[in-house]
This record gives sequence, structure tokens and C-alpha cells, in this order.
Amino acid sequence: MLGSTSYKLLAGSSVDVLIVPKTASFKLENLLVPTDGSGPAQKAGYKAINLAKVFSAKLNLLSVVEVEPIAFESEVPHLMETLEKFIDSQRKALASAQEALIKRCELEGISCFSSIEDGVPHEIIIDFSAKKSIDLIVMGSYGKSGIKKFLLGSVTEKVVGLSEVPVLVVKS
Ligand code: ATP
Ligand code: MN
Repeated sequence: MLGSTSYKLLAGSSVDVLIVPKTASFKLENLLVPTDGSGPAQKAGYKAINLAKVFSAKLNLLSVVEVEPIAFESEVPHLMETLEKFIDSQRKALASAQEALIKRCELEGISCFSSIEDGVPHEIIIDFSAKKSIDLIVMGSYGKSGIKKFLLGSVTEKVVGLSEVPVLVVKS
């Protein structure tokens, strides 16, 4: 996990920050952009596309639908319906955010793979980066909640703290 000094440095920085774990190798062939569809995440996505172009890298888009397991245990039918609708609209919003980045990749001639998964964002992001041999994660410093007071979102904080591959945090 991040120490308080690293956290302050990362949260307070006005420029993008690249975090390289000690064990990481330096390769830029396979990039991962986790997006929640927010402005800061999409900004990171376009930055990653520019990087992919320079380094002839592949791009992977990953969006996580945050599904609360407790909610599914509910026996209230109406609640389930509302929840399913909410999840469905989340999925659609994520797909259209990905679509914008996919279109840009097509224009730039970059191979782009996209996926939407259910679960806890930082866990899915870390798993994905290990399984798909990702060389660099490019993500926003904050996302949908964008509580600027904190300057660093909790997903980014967790990914930076747990990732075994380098993370480029794009500041907004
Ligand atoms: P918090 O979620 O802690 O209230 P926040 O929404 O402002 O605050 P984060 O969620 O940490 O901040 O978002 C930071 C970055 O993490 C985003 O720019 C995006 O790159 C990534 N991210 C966040 N949520 C998801 C998600 N559900 N799927 C994929 N990537 C995500
Ligand atoms: Mn968030």
C-alpha cells in the first residue's frame, strides 16, 4: 500500500505521475486503460492512445460494473428490479465511453480490445493486468465521484498500491 508521503506526492501533483514497482520490467507493448466513463478516465484513455501510437502498442480497455453482492441477497422483488435497471444503465454508459476510445483507436490504426466485467474495480484491474501481461496501466487520478478535496480516487490509490506493473496516473 501507499505510504503517506507517496500518497501526498501523488495526490498533490499537478503533473502526470509514473509509478514503477521495483520488480517491473520496462516494456510498452500492451497497455491497459481502466475507464469508468468519467472525464478524467477518458482523458487518460486518449493519452494512452497517443502512447500506443508512439510505441506501436496494443490497447486494452476495461470497465468494471460495480455490483454489490449484498444487494443480490435481497428478497424484495421491487428492489431487485430497480437494481438490475441501474446496473444495466451503468453497463450501457460504460460501453458508450469505451466506444468513443475504440473509434479513436480505429482512426489511429491501433489494435484495441475492450471488456466489461462485474466486480470490485481495483481487484478486477489488478487481476486483468496480471493475466493479460500488461506492461503499463494508464488511469485517471479521479473518476466519477470526483471529490476534488481528496485529489486522488480510491480505485487509483488501491491500484497504485497493489500493482506489480507500472501505473501512469493522468492528472486532470
Ligand atoms: P471514489 O470512487 O474513490 O469515490 P473517484 O470516482 O473520483 O473516487 P476513482 O474511482 O479512484 O475516483 O477513479 C480513478 C480512476 O480509476 C478513473 O479515472 C479510472 O481510470 C479508474 N476507475 C475507477 N472506477 C473504475 C471502474 N469501475 N472501471 C474501470 N476503471 C475505473
Ligand atoms: Mn470511483
